Amino acid sequence: MLFNKLTTLVFALAASVATVAAAPSKRALAQVITSCTVPGTAAMTFDDGPYYYIYDISKALVAANATGTFFFNGNNYGCIYDPDNVKRVNYVLDKGHQVGSHTWAHKDLATLTWDQIHDEMWRVEEALMKISGRYPAFMRPPYGSYNDLVREASAIRGQVLATWDFDTEDSLGASVAQQKSSIDALIKKKPKTILSLEHETYGALNSVLEAFPFSHVEHRDLLAL
Ligand SMILES: [Zn+2]
Repeated sequence: MLFNKLTTLVFALAASVATVAAAPSKRALAQVITSCTVPGTAAMTFDDGPYYYIYDISKALVAANATGTFFFNGNNYGCIYDPDNVKRVNYVLDKGHQVGSHTWAHKDLATLTWDQIHDEMWRVEEALMKISGRYPAFMRPPYGSYNDLVREASAIRGQVLATWDFDTEDSLGASVAQQKSSIDALIKKKPKTILSLEHETYGALNSVLEAFPFSHVEHRDLLAL
C-alpha cells in the first residue's frame, strides 16, 4: 500500500514536471486587441510613463469628458517606485483613467526567453499592486513587438494584449503640427473607430490633445469597457 502511494506520488511529480516543461507550447494565446470594436468610439493610449506631463494629460482628458489608458513601465524614464511616480499612478486611477502594463524596462519581448518575459511582466505588475492594489488586465508590448511566447505568458495572467491602429508618431519626432496634420487626415477618412498611440513623455502632447477629435467622435476609452 505504501509502495502504491509512493508510486502514485512519483508519477504525479513526473506528470507535474512534464506539464511545466511542455507548458509554453501548449497554453492558450492571449487575445490581441488592435482596434476599438464599438463604432463611433476612440481610445487614446499613453505609453512609457509615469512621467512629468501626466497631470496635464489627465486634465485635458477630463476637461473633454474623456478618459485615457496609461500603459506604465516599471523603469524606463524613471522608477515607478519613486514617490513622484507613485503619486502619478494613483492620481490617474483616481481620475477614472485606465492603467495597463507596458512591462518593466521596455525591452523587446519577442527577443526574450520565457523566464525573462515573465520577469519583465511580473515586476511591473507587482509594483502596480503594491502602489495601487490593482492588477493590470491589459499589456501593451513595447514597440508593439510580441510573439506566441509573449501571448502565452499574457494568457496565463488573464491579460489581453493591446496594440494600436493609429500612431501619432510623437516618439519618432513628429512635431505638433505634423501630429495635428496626421490626425486631421485620419478624421477626413471618417474611421469608425480609433485606437491611438501617444507617449506621455513628450511635452508637446497638450497641443495634440487639443487637436484630437473630441467633438467628432464619442470619445470614450474602449479598453475600460
Ligand atoms: Zn513604449
